[in-house]
Amino acid sequence: MINKKMHGLGTQKSIIREIAGYGAQRRAEIGAENVLDFSIGNPNVPAPDAVRQAIQDIIDNESPVAYNSYTAGNGAPETRKAVADNLNKRFGTDYSADDVFMTCGAAASLNISLQAMVESDKNEVIVVVPFFPEYKPFIEARGAKMVVVESLDSLQLDLEKIEKAINKNTKAIIINTPNNPSGVVYTEEGIKGLAEVLNKKQKEFGNEIYLISDEPYRELIFEGVEVPFIPNYYDNTIVCYSWSKSLSLPGERIGYILVPPTVTDNKDFYAAVAGSARVLGFVCAPSLMQKVVTKCVDVAPDLTVYENNRNLLYDNLTKLGYKMAKPDGAFYAFIEAPNGDVDKFCEEAKKHEMLLVPAAGFGSPTYVRLSYCVETEKIEKAIKVFEKLI
Ligand code: PLP
Repeated sequence: MINKKMHGLGTQKSIIREIAGYGAQRRAEIGAENVLDFSIGNPNVPAPDAVRQAIQDIIDNESPVAYNSYTAGNGAPETRKAVADNLNKRFGTDYSADDVFMTCGAAASLNISLQAMVESDKNEVIVVVPFFPEYKPFIEARGAKMVVVESLDSLQLDLEKIEKAINKNTKAIIINTPNNPSGVVYTEEGIKGLAEVLNKKQKEFGNEIYLISDEPYRELIFEGVEVPFIPNYYDNTIVCYSWSKSLSLPGERIGYILVPPTVTDNKDFYAAVAGSARVLGFVCAPSLMQKVVTKCVDVAPDLTVYENNRNLLYDNLTKLGYKMAKPDGAFYAFIEAPNGDVDKFCEEAKKHEMLLVPAAGFGSPTYVRLSYCVETEKIEKAIKVFEKLI
């Protein structure tokens, strides 16, 4: 016999992958230039040249035994120190290498963190609409229950609803800002309010409620918008970071978990993180990539293409009458289907070779997601299609 849950997850088609597969098929049939495939969040901007130089430098000057070998389970000390130094410089914190645990990207960071805190099948983890669809299998596979909380119309945090959703079984809330799929950056006021609610509820129930800050898009922000650094607002914050988007390295699987010293019994939490990574089979993060991010930790992404695409989409679609929140970061536009009829809208778009993702899996059944990490020419063509569709 096999594990039916895992079989279900393995055979269940991800709608995003399904649409991307259809896009690949159409590209082969009618030519890539004729397909407006906005399904997948794979950065189209190549990794900065500093990454190529770092790889070259490591390969030319270091022993393969060093760059191909295991590191310690929590990562190379110099990499963890480089991450801590970078955060301290930018956010006025005082972290050390011992607060940082290197991982294979944000998906690994999330699973390891959840495994480190979930104690019983009564535990609940809150997610906020719209949310990354993988949270559901991650939370459930770690043995907890996912609780969905709606947001305000602006897609900012609805603090009243969050407060109502918290009970004695609440173990954590996951937030993701800048957000996939909306691009919304939560305001400082919202984050302060959330911290107040969580502190109040921790006192009321006498146990920790962790705030998991899922941050693969932290560096992808436009026009000087500030993303509040969450551990500076709430003590029991666990940061799950990844370079998949900021350095365009999604296939390299590299990220980290930050367990700030403000977390209750932080050393024990860090030890539980090490135990979780161990049982989940994450022996260590990729060695070569740890060396690369050590050298590139201060490299900023080139946001020109994303910001151009964002401006074109937001200005034109809102002028045409589409409802969407202004994406202040990431590379997604989240658009309400006219009359809320997502299936019809996606079908009509498909007739014009434009591929959008219905957002029911993100918790928003009347919306579609458009990934605009593509050439600007495709966005210009898409605007003409949106004009026809409305
Ligand atoms: N969290 C969010 C919100 C994401 O959008 C993604 C990837 O798209 C992940 C986590 C997983 O990122 P990684 O590729 O680093 O595992």
